[in-house]
Amino acid sequence: MAGYDRERFASTSDSTLDELSCGICRDILCDPLMTPCCLQMFCHNCIDTWLESSDTCPYDRHPLSSAQLCRTPRIVMNMLLDLKIDCEFKDNGCDSVVTLDELPQHTANCRFNDTKYTDYEFEDYEEEEEPDLTANGLKIIENMMSEEMTEKVLSIVSNDIIEKTSLSVICAKISKKLDQKCGKRWHCSVVDRFDTQAIFIFEPGFWIQLKFGFLYYIIYKTQH
Ligand SMILES: [Zn+2]
Ligand SMILES: [Zn+2]
Ligand SMILES: [Zn+2]
Repeated sequence: MAGYDRERFASTSDSTLDELSCGICRDILCDPLMTPCCLQMFCHNCIDTWLESSDTCPYDRHPLSSAQLCRTPRIVMNMLLDLKIDCEFKDNGCDSVVTLDELPQHTANCRFNDTKYTDYEFEDYEEEEEPDLTANGLKIIENMMSEEMTEKVLSIVSNDIIEKTSLSVICAKISKKLDQKCGKRWHCSVVDRFDTQAIFIFEPGFWIQLKFGFLYYIIYKTQH
């Protein structure tokens, strides 16, 4: 990707953002590399794309090839990784502000990250056969929670999971309620099969996988 949109760094001064911006895309450096000629920094993707059609430095026009690009000094990387950035799903309702260092983990776990389940809507669900329900309609597939926590979580989940709105609405509702009743910060994701490949970083003892209908719900708690 090119740089990070400047607008997402509301708490950082303009002068700092100028120092840490890419000379090609003008946004905040993403995975930066430095030129040996003028010590300018550019996003990895931006300078790669530039050098596909040019053999000079975009800043001072000195001859330049990708093999000559250097890693960014550690002090600059540290400054960059300490910048506070708005979550990219702010428009979906996420109010998290994290450091660039924490961003990949936050994005993977963000409950407002609707790219995780935009494909599933309840119209699909209704076409399926009536699911084989247990007492409360939920099946526990895998559980790492204490009995007490399991009961608490199930009582919240079983109320909301039956609503026939979109899955992203249901998941957001469940995680918000769990935040209120069981401490921050809970996440609820839907997958359409039992997926052991998915990596979720969770607090030890706070992870459960449920099946409802043909969908699998992963519900877990993280520290951020
Ligand atoms: Zn760039
Ligand atoms: Zn240069
Ligand atoms: Zn977020």
